[in-house]
Amino acid sequence: MIVKNCKVLKELLEADYHELVDIHIEGDEIINVYPAGSDVKDEHIVDAGGKYVLPGFIDLHVHLTLSAGDTLVDSFKSPVQMTIDAYSFALDSLKRGFTTLRDVGASSGTVIAVRDSINAGKLVGPNLICSGRIITPTENGNDFFKGMYLEVDSPDDMARGVRTVMKDGADFIKLMGTGAMMNPGGEPGMSICFKEEFEAIVKAAELKGTYVAVHCHGTNAIKTAIKAGCRSIEHSSLMDDEIIELYKAETAFPVPTLSVWIALLRDLPESSKFMTKKVEAVLSDNIKGVKKAYKAGIKFGFGTDQGVTGLFHGDNGMEFEVRKEHYEMDNIDLILQATKHSAEIMKMDHKIGTIKVGKLADLVIVDGDPLDDISVLRNNIETVIKSGQVV
Ligand SMILES: [Zn+2]
Repeated sequence: MIVKNCKVLKELLEADYHELVDIHIEGDEIINVYPAGSDVKDEHIVDAGGKYVLPGFIDLHVHLTLSAGDTLVDSFKSPVQMTIDAYSFALDSLKRGFTTLRDVGASSGTVIAVRDSINAGKLVGPNLICSGRIITPTENGNDFFKGMYLEVDSPDDMARGVRTVMKDGADFIKLMGTGAMMNPGGEPGMSICFKEEFEAIVKAAELKGTYVAVHCHGTNAIKTAIKAGCRSIEHSSLMDDEIIELYKAETAFPVPTLSVWIALLRDLPESSKFMTKKVEAVLSDNIKGVKKAYKAGIKFGFGTDQGVTGLFHGDNGMEFEVRKEHYEMDNIDLILQATKHSAEIMKMDHKIGTIKVGKLADLVIVDGDPLDDISVLRNNIETVIKSGQVV
């Protein structure tokens, strides 16, 4: 396939820059990038007509077994139903330009099964990167998400937890480092792991050749997690100057999920209303901290918490708009967060995140100028190409 007349961003093209390029694809890979108008021939031509062509977007924080509805109803679905729903939700995001989704917590054998079917070519879908069950100490509210957690206590058990979820087929490790907004009785500000537990889980993950993504709202837990070697700090809600300094070393990266909070401020089912107060308590401090970190040049990952109550699959692009509005980030940085930077955070930048020969042909054609109006990335995705196939 050749995607002709692509307007590209210099920052996302790892090839000689021309204002318009033709992208040559064979199988699932980009095999060449030419100046537009080249005489290279292929049976299958897609003409982008001078529109922007970006690498497929990445959402580092989704829950494909949750439906955005009432969590208690979701938690009691059968694993088969969860698996079928997970595939359909993954397609919702793919159609809106999100060609890679990192699922940060699901019941055993659900999203991982969907991933395996997509990887085997039996289903068309986005790249799925899965944690399987979330490793957590025994904690208030874990039962609210039946089946999603693997409870372990003590450093030795952390290592056993890592081995267990890796055996289940996990790609990386997800840990709960503080209480959660979405768990009844969970205190978002409070650390729930000992320093030794953070260290043990990082060591066990490294042994298995992977990294830890840790759910952390509170300041102290974020610091301990970064110092222990956790790589991806999910939510990273309450950041002070010391945390900003720690992030400068780029061994750990914050992955805010602002859209879920904005969603939780809307109308919710009765059983989820307790979440709203917790969000209101941290939102303004979160915005202050993120703005300061952004001005200090910290690299952010792109995440949403899609699937949590109020946040519908497929609307991942809402995060572009709310980060623009509340965090006041530049459009080019938002685009980099959802592509290159998130690929680097997952250590997948050899395969995705930019337009480069040898990388997966995951591309989106956008109607409009995302440098001028970020909302086009939420609303105006014209064509999605996943692994060289038009979706
Ligand atoms: Zn989450």
